[in-house]
Amino acid sequence: MIKYKLSCEDCNLSFDSWFASSKEYEKLKKLKHINCHNCNSLNIKKSLMSPSILKSDDKNHLAIKKEIRKYQKFIKSNFKYVGKNFSYEARSIHYDKKKNSNGIYGKASIEEIKELQEEGIETTVVPWFSENDN
Ligand SMILES: [Zn+2]
Repeated sequence: MIKYKLSCEDCNLSFDSWFASSKEYEKLKKLKHINCHNCNSLNIKKSLMSPSILKSDDKNHLAIKKEIRKYQKFIKSNFKYVGKNFSYEARSIHYDKKKNSNGIYGKASIEEIKELQEEGIETTVVPWFSENDN
């Protein structure tokens, strides 16, 4: 994974964002999926700082991974796993108010997440490691 420092050319907000690869960044940028959290502008630039790339021997990486695993454990014990049906389940919870749910987690593409957000359905994206990935 790559962390980029991004900055908005309109309001000067700078923020960090994680991407699977530099290619993914380019793709999202092209699809206009990278916008400013503050003013929604699409005039986002990668700052000159070199990206930090996570390597498995990186101490920060291990710390982050530990945090993510803790978070994963929390999610697993509190939320219902719905796998690839994530966006379907998220919609049914959102639109069918009678349905009681503590929350769900599952897999969704960037496009699906974007669609859900446009519909006002709150989602949180977390990096996810599989059990046997060290
Ligand atoms: Zn902005």
